[in-house]
Amino acid sequence: MTTLTSAQAQTSAESYVQSVYENVVRRNPHEAEFHQAVKEIFDSLVPVFAVHPEYIEHNILERIAEPDRVVTFRVPWVDDEGNVRVNRGFRVQFNSVLGPYKGGIRFHPSVNASIVKFLGFEQIFKNSLTGQPIGGGKGGSDFDPKGKSDGEVMRFTQSFMTELYKYIGPDTDVPAGDIGVGAREIGFMFGQYKRIRGGNEAGVLTGKGIGYGGSLARKEATGYGCVYFVQEMLASRGLSFRDSTVVVSGSGNVSIYAIEKAQQLGAKVVACSDSDGYIYDPDGLDLETIKQLKEVERKRIKEYTLARPQAVYTEGCSGIWSVPSDIALPCATQNEIDEQAALLLIENGVKAIGEGANMPCNLEAIGAFQREDVLFGPAKAANAGGVAVSALEMAQNSMRLAWTFEEVDAKLHEIMRNIYGRCVDAAERYGYSGNLVVGANIAGFVKVADAAIAQGVV
Ligand code: GLU
Repeated sequence: MTTLTSAQAQTSAESYVQSVYENVVRRNPHEAEFHQAVKEIFDSLVPVFAVHPEYIEHNILERIAEPDRVVTFRVPWVDDEGNVRVNRGFRVQFNSVLGPYKGGIRFHPSVNASIVKFLGFEQIFKNSLTGQPIGGGKGGSDFDPKGKSDGEVMRFTQSFMTELYKYIGPDTDVPAGDIGVGAREIGFMFGQYKRIRGGNEAGVLTGKGIGYGGSLARKEATGYGCVYFVQEMLASRGLSFRDSTVVVSGSGNVSIYAIEKAQQLGAKVVACSDSDGYIYDPDGLDLETIKQLKEVERKRIKEYTLARPQAVYTEGCSGIWSVPSDIALPCATQNEIDEQAALLLIENGVKAIGEGANMPCNLEAIGAFQREDVLFGPAKAANAGGVAVSALEMAQNSMRLAWTFEEVDAKLHEIMRNIYGRCVDAAERYGYSGNLVVGANIAGFVKVADAAIAQGVV
């Protein structure tokens, strides 16, 4: 057997990663978001392949980058005017070596194969990082819930589930919410699944209502978890949320509970947004007004200024990054912070970024934060709290019991601390001390790769 020098090992790792990446791009043309997510992870893995040639021998990277399967289906439904409408549904079952496919469903007009594949791919490593037995999957539709009546949302969602039910189950694939899919949609999906299956398989979906198998603290989990993660990053430099100025983009489920936890920890959160624009409230946001607008009335964030006239509303959501902050939590959607927005945040003195959304910072923005030594918590670690509590919901469903809010929240806090520790340790071990992007990617990957090798070529 020939032993490679470390320089040769490095070159062979680089060329392996590059050739698999080129294959991914060739095999999945026109899928920019999927390529971006793959590139971000692949680049971090070179040091792993340089010291673990067995991963190259088993061609682990190519196996992981190819989903187990992708299902695409027609979703016909009838709108309130009696028109027959057609949307497209997706479920990507990406990887199941650690457990049943697990990941949300997104309803948004931008949903296409590239978006669900990038989300499903990220989900593999995120779910691995939680330390829980869950594989990676994602789904969705290009249906736009904005402006639709409850009846339209129900008919669409029932039609969506009438096809999706064939592919999911408590031990095979467990969907949950994401953008455009909250308690209302999960309720409709659960009802339709139960009706078709003729039995109550509580663990088939997570994010359910508390009255029928949902977990306390699931609603809060992604936002709270993101803040718990950022708390750990800040503590590493002797900093905290107390008396800091925070900007949180979005005003959906992740944002609302990130704002809530940051406020509980003594921060002043001055801005949030929706896809139309952002509000700036110099005295600190009034969260009850936002919850009423977004969770109850389903209105636009612009209306916040009616209740709080001192707040300023600005059209266009990207302007939110011009608001000076100590901590920025992008919790809206992918690629909402580009290099220009990152440079603006840096110029205004930002100290920490916690990605509450999936892939909200593009590769150039991450590079800018890292060059300036801004603390950076990558999505697959920082927003893993949501799926982690989903796994706790599955556990409670299997045991047919329910934990208290405090129990679930304490477990979530512990999980986020552990994720932070795993990222720090992995970065350190491979010579990238303090780089949580590399740490998260490596720690998430190694567990999946080892399990894949143990399970053979399947
Ligand atoms: N959609 C969330 C995510 O991106 C949650 C998924 C889940 O709870 O399964 O992780």
